[in-house]
Amino acid sequence: MAQCKACKKKGLFLSLNKHNLCSECEQTVGTRINEISVEVIRQHKAIENSKNLGSKLQNTKDFLENLELLDKYESQGIKTTTPSANELISIYENSGIELLNDEFVDIAQIEVSGQDSYNRKMKLFRELENQFNYYKSNFIADDELLESKELLDMQIECTISLFYGNLIDNSKNLEKNKDYINARNKLEKAFEILVKEKEVFGDGEDLRTELNDWIKNLDSKIQTPPN
Ligand SMILES: [Zn+2]
Repeated sequence: MAQCKACKKKGLFLSLNKHNLCSECEQTVGTRINEISVEVIRQHKAIENSKNLGSKLQNTKDFLENLELLDKYESQGIKTTTPSANELISIYENSGIELLNDEFVDIAQIEVSGQDSYNRKMKLFRELENQFNYYKSNFIADDELLESKELLDMQIECTISLFYGNLIDNSKNLEKNKDYINARNKLEKAFEILVKEKEVFGDGEDLRTELNDWIKNLDSKIQTPPN
């Protein structure tokens, strides 16, 4: 005997629609399911088409939330989408973290060849950090997220330390070649990083003193050129 999966009405001649609902429930529950399904399709398209990681994540979050709503209907025996919301959830539940990881890999590959590429890479890393925080507060944070966030933190630290180290090495070489002005420029840039990136260098007081003394020393060499 046919039974409406929403109101549980039974009847030999009761006809159910594609959602397994009677005609009355189709007006209410069925309409709601159709509304949510339209949103789900729209959000799926937006995830595919968006170029921006932030809006991809936002749409992924809304998409999964709507699928959860449909999944509740499905657990009562009401049909919603094809593939079912339940299947879609299992396909897409990790897609937020996958988006973050893909972006991370792209940024990590940017080669730092000078101040401009360093600035660009750091800017992208900081934006990605924000997206990680967005994900953490809006999605269910799991072990995979924490692992990825640790990798990101490590990469950021590496990028900063490497670039700082390069500036110092370059400065030493320039000084050796008596190019004191450019040696000083490199040191000033290193000093800026030292002050800015407290996560890596702490308060860096010893290093600051060391760099300051070094800069002063270069100043004296710049002001009194050898005869
Ligand atoms: Zn019904």
